[in-house]
Amino acid sequence: MDETQELEQRAQALRTQLNSWRDAYYTQDAPVVTDAEYDRVYRELETIEAAHPELVTPDSPTQLVGDATLPELGKVPHEVPMLSMGDVFSLDELADWADRTTASAEAGELEYNVELKIDGLSLSLVYENGVLVQASTRGNGRIGEDVTKNVLTIADVPQHLARPLSLEVRGECYMPKAAFAKLNAAREQEGLATFANPRNAAAGSLRQLDAAVTKKRQLATFMYTLLTPAEFGVTTQDQAIRFMTELGFSTNPSSERLAHLHDIDDYIERYTGQRDDLSYGIDGIVLKVNDLALQEQLGNTVKVPRWEIAYKFPPEEAATIVRAIDWTIGRTGVVTPTAVMDTVQLAGTQVSRATLHNPDFIAEKDIRIGDTVLLHKAGDIIPEISQVVLSKRPADAQPYAVPTTCPSCGAELVHIEDEVALRCINPLCPAQVQEQLTHFASRPAMNIDGLGPKIIAQLQEKQLVRDVADLYKLTADDLAQLDKFKEKSINNLLQAIDGSRHNSVERLLTGLGIRHVGAKAAAVLAEHFGSMAAIAAASEDELAEVDGLGPIIASTVAQYFAMDTTSELIGELQVAGVNLTYTTQTAAPETDSFVSGKTVVITGKFTDFTRPALTAQLKALGAKVTGSVSKKTDLLVAGEAAGSKLSKAQTLGVQVMTEAELKQELTED
Ligand code: NAD
Repeated sequence: MDETQELEQRAQALRTQLNSWRDAYYTQDAPVVTDAEYDRVYRELETIEAAHPELVTPDSPTQLVGDATLPELGKVPHEVPMLSMGDVFSLDELADWADRTTASAEAGELEYNVELKIDGLSLSLVYENGVLVQASTRGNGRIGEDVTKNVLTIADVPQHLARPLSLEVRGECYMPKAAFAKLNAAREQEGLATFANPRNAAAGSLRQLDAAVTKKRQLATFMYTLLTPAEFGVTTQDQAIRFMTELGFSTNPSSERLAHLHDIDDYIERYTGQRDDLSYGIDGIVLKVNDLALQEQLGNTVKVPRWEIAYKFPPEEAATIVRAIDWTIGRTGVVTPTAVMDTVQLAGTQVSRATLHNPDFIAEKDIRIGDTVLLHKAGDIIPEISQVVLSKRPADAQPYAVPTTCPSCGAELVHIEDEVALRCINPLCPAQVQEQLTHFASRPAMNIDGLGPKIIAQLQEKQLVRDVADLYKLTADDLAQLDKFKEKSINNLLQAIDGSRHNSVERLLTGLGIRHVGAKAAAVLAEHFGSMAAIAAASEDELAEVDGLGPIIASTVAQYFAMDTTSELIGELQVAGVNLTYTTQTAAPETDSFVSGKTVVITGKFTDFTRPALTAQLKALGAKVTGSVSKKTDLLVAGEAAGSKLSKAQTLGVQVMTEAELKQELTED
């Protein structure tokens, strides 16, 4: 393999890794790695792509904003895309950015509006004649989610402006630290999964189907972008903020107009120190060219504006001592170690536990009981050990001996193939079943309110539940055996379980915990096939044909449905009255467009479309979009650098359309 091939493979591996982290972060609001880790891997990909632009693919995270939208929420197209933001991680990089920007602006010394970078999610608000008519999230930048009903419950969002103007503003929706602490404490009490950080809590609370839930979560906002400033005689960013404040919006009071780097450095230092004392989370500061005409002149890349940059705070560190290592068993049998440490204050919270990921992590860092370690907490999320302080190692510390048997059921632990994880492969292991049931009941899956790990553990202990189908056989008498369960709590839980019977089938698919099938893949499967029976009957090839799935998911899904235990379980769920069909409401596809009823494949790079957006648009026009060219394909839409799919289509005589021809059709249609 030559160097370019190696780089191509590396870039592909990084893209796959980042995309799976993005799915967890943006779609499920539950990150699996720290922002620092994400940013490190992202930078590696960016560096490869900068040196080899031919390796950039349209689905690269470096080209995309945010992620897919939740199908349950309505879609809102953004006429002016909602972009991401470039970032730097040191004052030197910030100075380089300022030099480059000053040079390309050709306008002498630049003045910046320097703002705090609020750790929340972007929000767009549209007003007509002074009345709030629409609120939406960023989504993938071009299409956001309709969260109007939810935003109407946020106390600081004005429903009527001080003047009857028609305009759009954008800003950040966040969860104050106090509300976040209260919410997580309550969830822990109920045995529910806690949110990783205020940003994910805010996103999870805003992207709710039930506005009453959003209302309880005490969200707040800071608006910072006015979309059509010229209409109101506004020419600078600081004026825009003042104008929005006058109209009644909540704006952040800490922004300052600064030109000199030493003043900007002082600002950064000041807020690095005050960060923990603020009532809301910030993860950096934002520099924006203050003159709006200059902003316009500098323009945007496909993903970020050139006139603004985020300086991200470095992760904070603290030293503490490791006292023990706990092992917990996940739903697929993976056994994960956690360090138990002397409590220490880190980035505003008390920390006493940190994940150690897997035995290799312990071995690589050579973490021993009694060691002094340095902890960091990137992006205010998951505490992690960065290194052992060897000079403080006790003389008698021994290398850590990894357990050989499962702490829950005593079965021997194994390494499967070349996985780093240790696994318990006993399918009846109580700890694993508990995790499976918890996942089944969780919010992205069957969403059974009130059924958390503590209650599940009791149901297992009393042998009332052995698998997910048993949940639907529970009676009031069964639940009366649980601690502190009285009539009201019994009825609430029975009702929540009963309600889940009517979920559209993608929730059940998510809940079954099929490898690689998260909420997004489940939604694709359910929408495409329409029912559990059709998915179970599909061959691996048919599954791989579905746009948005790919061979890995196709293979695990086919394997899952080939097992006898699966058909037994699905049979039991059917008997229990659990819905097995797709009932999510989607807009009816058009029936008289140029692609309605046609099987379409998309390939190559596009200038004016992202792949997901194009797929969504063609589907809305009635097309069936699949992943590979065959005799059944009616049309191939081929962008730049289309490869084997184009030649196959030509061989098979399939109609081919270029991006320009497609745009022509779309405007005529
Ligand atoms: P970003 O969050 O780094 O920055 C852009 C956003 O900042 C804007 O969209 C806006 O919502 C917000 N913002 C806050 N205050 C602002 C202000 N005063 N002015 C303008 N904007 C302001 O970029 P992103 O594209 O939303 O997310 C990328 C980042 O998210 C990554 O760098 C990473 O840190 C994190 N991420 C983490 C994971 C993970 O698994 N941990 C996965 C994906 C992304």
